[in-house]
Amino acid sequence: MNSDTSVSQIASAKVNLLGYDLAHMKAFFTEIGEKPFRAVQVLKWIHQFGADDFTQMSNVSQALRKKLSKIAEIRAPEIIAEQKASDGTIKWLMRLDGGNSIETVYIPEDNRGTLCVSSQVGCALDCGFCSTAKQGFNRNLTSAEIIAQLWVANRALNPLAQASIAQSKHGKVQDSKNRVITNVVLMGMGEPLLNFENVVEAIHLMLEDHAYGLSKRRVTISTAGVVPALRRLREVCDVSLAISLHAPNDQIRNKIVPLNKKYPIKELLEACRFYFSGDTKKKQFTVEYVMLAGINDSEKNAHELAALLKKLPCKINLIPFNPFPNSEFDCSKMQTINRFKDILYKAGYVAVIRKTRGEDIDAACGQLAGKVKDKSRRIIRHR
Ligand code: SAH
Repeated sequence: MNSDTSVSQIASAKVNLLGYDLAHMKAFFTEIGEKPFRAVQVLKWIHQFGADDFTQMSNVSQALRKKLSKIAEIRAPEIIAEQKASDGTIKWLMRLDGGNSIETVYIPEDNRGTLCVSSQVGCALDCGFCSTAKQGFNRNLTSAEIIAQLWVANRALNPLAQASIAQSKHGKVQDSKNRVITNVVLMGMGEPLLNFENVVEAIHLMLEDHAYGLSKRRVTISTAGVVPALRRLREVCDVSLAISLHAPNDQIRNKIVPLNKKYPIKELLEACRFYFSGDTKKKQFTVEYVMLAGINDSEKNAHELAALLKKLPCKINLIPFNPFPNSEFDCSKMQTINRFKDILYKAGYVAVIRKTRGEDIDAACGQLAGKVKDKSRRIIRHR
């Protein structure tokens, strides 16, 4: 047994309530012989007030607070580094049990604040242009570790919420207008659909009125295309969707997104169409397309992409490739990206070039690395 294991074993003696959604929390209170309405009170304290200590929960009886302190805890990863970029983007490095660490990024904009959340320690998909992939894969994050990123960021960004714990007598709801984090994207480290159960439980908390109360429109899962999981997702929580397509045909996609060999483009786009079938409220999904010089950025590729996506309810996000040490690709020239965008635009698509954020602190897309003890359980290897 190494020292990391012993730390996590000691730490896991109590039940961590941080990752429990409402149903799970109700089941927990029933199991310990308490009324299920306690679940709502405790959820509010944890997620709306950022409480990490049961003694703070002033509308819960003294006896129950004592009982909870004995058997349960509210435990989040510890922030071990915080970096702020010149454009206001903040990146946190958080230490997990077991000696790994993950990265979470906050991107402020004029009218919103987006948190980019990780779902796994490393990634097993091995996309050649992504720095997380180079780190290998260690494990899935628990639902607590996923929602903790929101919880920790909220506390770090909004110290007033902490003060409000002291002021609040009855666990009143935080004013939603003062929210700092208005959107969450699961676009950090890892493939969210390969950690399905934990991601879904964390999303339940993001959407839950008694927790973060975000609308489905404001929570986005980005996936490289795990087709069966995408079909399941539609049944359990159909949040907004972004697809990492990155190529207009299987030949190119097989090379840069190896998962394509398992779930080729046709199957993926059919699953996207299914995701939207029978729902008039959802408008469109996002197609992500990283611009790699000489690989997928020709005018022919743009026309091919326009033909491929015909009749699909999507908008296209062109992502300038963000380099990282030893990356074997180059970003397309700005002129090429603009030309690519114009072709899509003329074909009738909404195509935007994603603004690179947090570049000076390596917080941009594909630059998140954390610290991953690689166990290399990769799904499909490059040939
Ligand atoms: N596994 C998920 C989510 C993580 S990556 C997915 O594949 O969608 C989030 C987005 O950043 C994806 O679109 C991914 O392809 C893109 N990305 C990865 N590396 C990049 C890089 N170096 N430059 C620009 N975008 C990158």
